[in-house]
Amino acid sequence: MPDAIESVIQAPGLASLRGVGPRLEERLARMGLITISDLLLHLPLRYQDRCRLAERGALLDSAEVLIRGRVCQAQPGVGRRRALVAVIECDGFLLTLRFFHYHPGLTARLTVGTHVQCFGQVRLSLSGFEMVHPEFECFDPADPPVLADHLTPVYPSVAGLHQAVIRRLVDQAIAWIGGKADDELPSALFGDPDWPGFVEAVKLLHHPPAGSRAEALLSDTHPARLRLACEELVAHQLACRRLRRRAAIWTAPAIRGGHALWDRFAEGLSFALTGAQQRVIEEIKDDLAKEQPMHRLVQGDVGSGKTVVAAAAVVHAVSSGYQVAIMAPTELLAEQHLRNFRHWLEPLGIEVGWLSGRVTAKQRTAVADVLADGSLPVLVGTHALFQEGLTFARLGLVVIDEQHRFGVQQRLSLLEKGRDCGTSPHLLIMTATPIPRTLMMTAYADLDCSVIDELPPGRKPVETVVLSVARRDEILARVRNACVGGRQVYWVCTLIEANELLQCQAAEDSAKELTAALPKLRVGLIHGRLKGDEKAAVMADFRAGEIDVLVATTVIEVGVDVPNASVMIIENAERLGLSQLHQLRGRIGRGDARGVCVLLYQPPLSEQGRERLAAMRETHDGFEIARRDLELRGPGELLGKRQAGYVRFKVADLVRDQGMIRHASRIAGEVEGHHEDRIPSLLGRWLGDALQYRAI
Ligand code: ADP
Ligand code: MG
Repeated sequence: MPDAIESVIQAPGLASLRGVGPRLEERLARMGLITISDLLLHLPLRYQDRCRLAERGALLDSAEVLIRGRVCQAQPGVGRRRALVAVIECDGFLLTLRFFHYHPGLTARLTVGTHVQCFGQVRLSLSGFEMVHPEFECFDPADPPVLADHLTPVYPSVAGLHQAVIRRLVDQAIAWIGGKADDELPSALFGDPDWPGFVEAVKLLHHPPAGSRAEALLSDTHPARLRLACEELVAHQLACRRLRRRAAIWTAPAIRGGHALWDRFAEGLSFALTGAQQRVIEEIKDDLAKEQPMHRLVQGDVGSGKTVVAAAAVVHAVSSGYQVAIMAPTELLAEQHLRNFRHWLEPLGIEVGWLSGRVTAKQRTAVADVLADGSLPVLVGTHALFQEGLTFARLGLVVIDEQHRFGVQQRLSLLEKGRDCGTSPHLLIMTATPIPRTLMMTAYADLDCSVIDELPPGRKPVETVVLSVARRDEILARVRNACVGGRQVYWVCTLIEANELLQCQAAEDSAKELTAALPKLRVGLIHGRLKGDEKAAVMADFRAGEIDVLVATTVIEVGVDVPNASVMIIENAERLGLSQLHQLRGRIGRGDARGVCVLLYQPPLSEQGRERLAAMRETHDGFEIARRDLELRGPGELLGKRQAGYVRFKVADLVRDQGMIRHASRIAGEVEGHHEDRIPSLLGRWLGDALQYRAI
């Protein structure tokens, strides 16, 4: 029997590149960048055009522009939060530069008469065109800076990892792959003569020549993207097929459940299960009773009640004496599960343990002990759960919620874990991704699929309102009224910047502003840079009703459930994709009160932005939203396509690339038949980083 993990050939690790020491290697790893292939497939989020200077008419059209001018006014601001303001005179217009945080030396450099080159996003403020915190350099007009000869890529990144560093490493990675074009899949397999080969596609997307249109490069239909996405789907198919073949070899514990506990669980619920929930629970029970490991995907729109279905499966497994591990993608969501599962299971005498990346060594050892001796039946946590090399005495079921990084390779590793005890656990995966069931089964050739196609009764669709930010008083009045009526509000901040720090600052600014404008209300703040326990404390206060308005970045996007929060305000909504808006809006309308979602936009609204917001007003169905999202996606215009933590693949996107899934499945068949020698490096390239879960 060939070993599926060993027969993957990976590109060299990033430590083999110049300038990568242990610290940088660790930072890159945090983004899932382990090998040179990972880096090559770490595609730009967007591009900056530093190849030409922007003219007046184009200032507001692009995300960011390059501008040169001469300082004609400079004044350090007054007051406690002193902003430094400089006005520069450009070719035919004035531009205000505004710095809230700056080094004192900056004042000395930005003096009247100095020539500066700035790069940043222009916005229209009361005082005219303005750039906040631009990148800038002073120059001698006799010797102006040279313009770039290719578009500058902007990569998804994390704190402490600068764009310049990623760019330098990508250059080296491209040089490496350039010398290795021989293990490509033959282009003829893909059947489209316009599609470039792998190497060519990667080069083009990282280094588009000057004059390339960024929108075209970012568009879902660019041939280079299509080629990569299709190859990824092929690799994924190949891995799924392997997995299915291997799963057939393993046995799982047949779990038949005990009726007493189950009855008490169902009676203890504060609501009746919907027909769809009951049906899916039965499908799961049937699977669990078999001696073959269940690999089941439960699909259900946001708010369809997937968690309680998972809980039912847990009760079932525990009542037969098996242990269960439950894994969520973020600490926020894992903690919420911990609370829910404790609430449901502890009255039945089932203890629920907790493990995340930040529990103390002592706590971890304690948990490891009770898992190993079998006395802890249920463990909830983040992926730390699988990285600890924990041993379970009788692991019968693993539940994975909204965990898009838990791909085929992790499923394989999980299966392999069974080697220790001779059986493999059953696996239940919950997802809100709206793909038709038949396609889902093609995409995940190794998974069975259940669909919760019914919402809990009495849900009233969220009323969705679209407002310009200019109507601030009206917005504040809505927030005030909701809170006076005992309801709670999410205020979601988003920014064009991929930079997490700026996102968090924007949220801090909004929180300050709201605190000042709504003195009678309690305003809380949550964002990605808070420590884990700070986040948990804020969420606990919000849940307890001690916070009226929770200002948040998109950290709350996935899974968060606070039924009393029924109003959501989303800033810059025109910049978000429909699916992301749908996920966000799914946080409200979960309780008795009718939910209200206010989508704020910065005028002027583009045609596409208008249509997107209108679509949000018109429909609440995840499938329909996904369909319109594809239709309306403004290329490159959207935020969070890749940051949102809602992407399972490196390049492909199951929703967007639905049409390609069957094609990829056929190609995978050809590759198995005629190009088997290419499979190990293909799997290494596309699924390699997943091997970090190997400790499972
Ligand atoms: P999702 O499918 O998005 O994960 P959740 O599991 O978080 O949804 O459930 C959303 C909300 O609906 C929760 O507050 C949950 O308690 C509630 N809920 C789930 N099932 C039902 C039901 N059958 N009747 C009423 N409320 C339900
Ligand atoms: Mg959920």
